[in-house]
Amino acid sequence: MTDTSENIVEVVKMIFGEVHAKVVKVMMENEGKEMRDEEIAKKIGMRVNEVRRVLYELHNKQIATYRKVIDPSTRWYTYYWKLNTENIYTLIKRRKRRVIELLKQRLEYERNNTFFKCTKGERCPIVTFDVAMEHYFKCPTCGAPLEQFDNSKIIELLEKKISELEEELRNDV
Ligand SMILES: [Zn+2]
Repeated sequence: MTDTSENIVEVVKMIFGEVHAKVVKVMMENEGKEMRDEEIAKKIGMRVNEVRRVLYELHNKQIATYRKVIDPSTRWYTYYWKLNTENIYTLIKRRKRRVIELLKQRLEYERNNTFFKCTKGERCPIVTFDVAMEHYFKCPTCGAPLEQFDNSKIIELLEKKISELEEELRNDV
C-alpha cells in the first residue's frame, strides 16, 4: 500500500474504528475494484453480518457505494461494494481543517495569556494570570508560591504542528 492509502486507513480508524479500517484496507488493497461482502469478510476473517453492518455505515457516510444484482434463479441479491475514495479525501481534508482551527485557537490562548505554575506540586494545574492574581500568587491547589511558567515551547510546538498540517493540505495528502 502507498503512503496515501495507509494514511486513509489510519484516518478511517481514527474516525470510525478498528473494524471499519480493516474493511477499508482490504478494499483499498483490491485497487478500487468491486468486492462482494462475503469476499471482504473472508479476507479479514470476520462474520459477513458484521462486515455488512460496517459497509452500511460507510455507505451512510458516503464513503462506500454498492450495486445490487439479483440472481434470477435464486432471487437472492448480491451486493458489489466499492470505496468512494474521493469522499474519503474530502473527509480527511475537512478533519484536518478542523484540527488546524482548534490548534490555532489553542495557540491564540497560549500567546494571549501568561501562565503560572506551582513551585512545589508537580501535579498542581498550571493557572492563568487572572487565577494566580485571585489567589495572591499562591497555588490554588496546595498554597505553595506560584512562579511564571514559560510556555514558549508549547507555542513553538503548536506553530510547528499547524504549519505541518497546512503543508499537508496544500500538497493534497
Ligand atoms: Zn501546588
